[in-house]
Amino acid sequence: MKGTSDERWVGIDIGGTTIKAGAMRGDGTVIEESTIEPGYAKGAAHAMDEIVREARRLGATRALGVGVPGQLRRADGFVVDSPNIPSFRALPLREELAKRMGFALENVVVENDANAAALGEQWLGGARGSHDVLMVTLGTGIGGGLILGGRLYAGAGMAGEVGHVVVDPNGLACGCGGRGCVETLASATAARRRAIAVNLPASAPGDLKLLAARARAGEGAERQLLFEIGRDLGRGLGPVICLLDLETFVFGGGFSGALDTLEAGIRVGADERSYGGRGAKLRLLSARLGPSAGWIGAARPTVPGQRI
Ligand SMILES: [Zn+2]
Repeated sequence: MKGTSDERWVGIDIGGTTIKAGAMRGDGTVIEESTIEPGYAKGAAHAMDEIVREARRLGATRALGVGVPGQLRRADGFVVDSPNIPSFRALPLREELAKRMGFALENVVVENDANAAALGEQWLGGARGSHDVLMVTLGTGIGGGLILGGRLYAGAGMAGEVGHVVVDPNGLACGCGGRGCVETLASATAARRRAIAVNLPASAPGDLKLLAARARAGEGAERQLLFEIGRDLGRGLGPVICLLDLETFVFGGGFSGALDTLEAGIRVGADERSYGGRGAKLRLLSARLGPSAGWIGAARPTVPGQRI
């Protein structure tokens, strides 16, 4: 695809409750962002109509990039399952959107949402300029997107899912069916649960921010808890470091604002589960695009020269 400089490239980030969208120039300048209500309860066809309407309004004329949560067959953009959006199960999303937009099939790109966020952060965000990087999203769960040699590495489709590396085989049950995954120990949800278990307040919105602020200020229970959570996160990164000798990690999601308080623990945990003293050398970066990373990364493969 060759583009003119005033052409708009549109990305859509399909979320469990809302859909974020945006338009950008070919040089990565953001023109406009929006959030729409998908009305999932009315079915997938309704949600896709809403997506198409917004994509047109944002100025998509011949290409569209979409990020979607769940299990995706990347070869043809078929959503196998999306646990948080039941109506998207077994949905030929790419084909349906191409038909509705009137675009050639190859001009509609559908990517897993965590991979899309990684593509966004590595292009224009916190990991800009890093060729080998794992994006780790610390939210309700823990998501991951892996970029190797400057290209997205998806494996057979599910590479980068660092949230399900097992840290404690006897630990809590995880949504994936396993036990003691790093997600059960270091997601925002897990951090809240662990704080409450040691009698620290963590049930109200903003409590995790407060926890991090207290950890920064002193040596108390908050600091110890965030060290321990960071250590479990680092233990989850250990196998990744052993396998790929990766040095750069970029952290996004709501709980990543506490990264500075997790950092010491991450380095210790990574050293426990890898070798050669690499914990000290890790580059632990903060994501910079916030909730925009997903749509920006989804749009990226449609932008001339940015299909990686
Ligand atoms: Zn799991």
